[in-house]
Amino acid sequence: MQEPKAVGLSENDKNSSSSSSLGLGYEKNDMEATNGTTAAQADASSALVFLGTGCSSAVPNATCLIKPSDPPCHVCTQSLHIPPDRNPNYRSNTSLLIDYRNTEGEHKYILIDVGKTFREQVLRWFTLYKIPHVDSIILTHEHADAVLGLDDVRVIQPFSPTNDIDPTTVFLSQHSMDSLAEKFPYLVQTKLKEGQEVRRVAQLDWQIIERDYEKPFVASGLKFYPLPVMHGEDYISLGFLFGEKYRIAYISDVSRFPESTEHVISKDGAGQLDLLILDTLYKKGSHNVHFCLPQSLEALKRIRPKKALFIGMTHEFDHDKDNKFLREWSEREGIEVQLARDGLRVPVDL
Ligand SMILES: [Zn+2]
Ligand SMILES: [Zn+2]
Repeated sequence: MQEPKAVGLSENDKNSSSSSSLGLGYEKNDMEATNGTTAAQADASSALVFLGTGCSSAVPNATCLIKPSDPPCHVCTQSLHIPPDRNPNYRSNTSLLIDYRNTEGEHKYILIDVGKTFREQVLRWFTLYKIPHVDSIILTHEHADAVLGLDDVRVIQPFSPTNDIDPTTVFLSQHSMDSLAEKFPYLVQTKLKEGQEVRRVAQLDWQIIERDYEKPFVASGLKFYPLPVMHGEDYISLGFLFGEKYRIAYISDVSRFPESTEHVISKDGAGQLDLLILDTLYKKGSHNVHFCLPQSLEALKRIRPKKALFIGMTHEFDHDKDNKFLREWSEREGIEVQLARDGLRVPVDL
């Protein structure tokens, strides 16, 4: 197994308050180092690219800036003024791009969620990491911060004024499909009605998946196991387990784990995860439809992955400061955990 470089604990990181113990520092030099290794690593391994690590309203929080508090919110002020590629407190809607290098050495690009900020994420990170297209899309659920960028999928598809292109496969639950048929009828419609003009829209091939761990599916050659989780007691969202050599669970929207899901991702259950990517909305207290930091840390203690990265954060989180706290927690508890940040690239051997 190739050790994911970006998730390694280095002496330097341990002693630095501005870069994280998971090697996730965000100083200019770190970004340049990341970029410098990108070209060499791009062909060598698979990688996770965090396109977005923020909540639905994203960071900076607009309300926070148009109705500033006294004193003003440090995180949103910084988030607005420092360019995102040097700003760990700039957070778009949660989304992960899996750059999967298959056994033939080809790279397949699998995108999890296409939220409200998708176009911006393409501009920032597809250009930086030279991601030419997306081979398949997987949706966790049908909330706005997971699907409302679907219209913009056409920007990553070949141009055809007559829509004469191969569609991009989208894997989603029947529940999400029903909702999207109402939100985006023109993306679901397969034939033009009589007299209807051709208009260029994203071409998508909808594939229904079951909200059931026992019913895995294959997206662009990589196998995914659905992980149903409660996202509020009235709603099921999906996380996904993937990777044969390096087991990763991605769970972006969760307020409670059903027992069966917790079992398959737990060290004491079906086996220890190499990496758990987990929802954490606020720093304190609890929330009816999301984990906040206390619940996310409690979940880590039960699940005991080797490493964890948090996503879905609001402006309450100040990246460097809170990662310092998490480094101390990691040393106490023996589980490496850090906040992820937009643009983070983690090489992995899937
Ligand atoms: Zn703020
Ligand atoms: Zn949601």
